[in-house]
Amino acid sequence: MVAEREHLAAVAAVRSAVELCAAAQGRLVAGDTLTKGDDSPVTVADFAAQAVVCAALTEQLGTVDLVGEEDSSDLRDRTLLRDAVVDLVRAQRGDAASADAVLDWISVGRHDGSGDRYWTLDPIDGTKGFLRGDQYAIALALIEYGEVVLGVLGCPNLPNPDGSRGAIFVAVGGSCVVHYQGADRALPVAVATPTSLAEARVCESVESGHSNHDHSARIVERLGIVAEPYRIDSQCKYGAVARGDASIYLRLPTRADYREKVWDHAAGMFVVEQAGGRVTDVDGLPLDFGHGRRLEQNRGVIATDGRFHDEIVAAVQRVLADS
Ligand code: AMP
Ligand code: MG
Repeated sequence: MVAEREHLAAVAAVRSAVELCAAAQGRLVAGDTLTKGDDSPVTVADFAAQAVVCAALTEQLGTVDLVGEEDSSDLRDRTLLRDAVVDLVRAQRGDAASADAVLDWISVGRHDGSGDRYWTLDPIDGTKGFLRGDQYAIALALIEYGEVVLGVLGCPNLPNPDGSRGAIFVAVGGSCVVHYQGADRALPVAVATPTSLAEARVCESVESGHSNHDHSARIVERLGIVAEPYRIDSQCKYGAVARGDASIYLRLPTRADYREKVWDHAAGMFVVEQAGGRVTDVDGLPLDFGHGRRLEQNRGVIATDGRFHDEIVAAVQRVLADS
């Protein structure tokens, strides 16, 4: 069960991170980015966004169990980086935010995902897209007994059908809505089902290191899909499927030992499901959020409008078996 105050706090928290990131994108300077142990980039905005989301949630809800991607210990011996994070948070929350408070907010995200109920946050999903000036997302979800019950997906740069840019998808209680930047009202979101697979469009990661592009090309050919793949960073792919910009999202393993992270999928998956679509791993199994920080029981992801899901899983299985 999701309380109304949790729903409202989550939307407000993601909105504050969307504003912070939109202001920061394109203004980063040399030294604002570091490479983590797993070789992935992280910027001052990733840390600052985690801080403002955790601050907003804890102010409204008290103590929360939250699995966040970023770790404040990465800032411990990096004074310049830490000061830049504090400056970004202060630009939004005022000078009262001390350096210690900012580090404490980031540390809220230390939970390990054990227990019956936890939040998960990717403060900037698609950091490579963020750095390129392309797409990225702020993804916040609430998980109960291994199942997502609330997903809020902020996509600050996403081009919208009404000509605006920036969307926040909110999935909860059997429905999905989207708030476009500058619009007064939220709009209902529903997947679009092509009449045949030939008319379907696949979206996938820009980064071939995150999803196997050779395999997706073979799957697309097998299914008789003619449209070029829509390559877009981050969980914006789930938003694209949820509102019908594409009808299939393929995330195909590039390494046998990689396990997807809970914060990379929880919010996006729920957005697609509540918009009427279906999400499984490449073996057709549901994503299982009951194993800590990683999706230990799953490999890759297939998200679709639902109609041809089994057929698509079968095609994926054949291509993976042949390779
Ligand atoms: P995307 O923007 O769809 O390319 O996804 C970005 C996410 O890919 C990052 O948040 C990383 O956590 C994740 N990632 C990093 N390495 C891999 C990998 N080898 N396979 C799948 N996802 C990865
Ligand atoms: Mg991510």
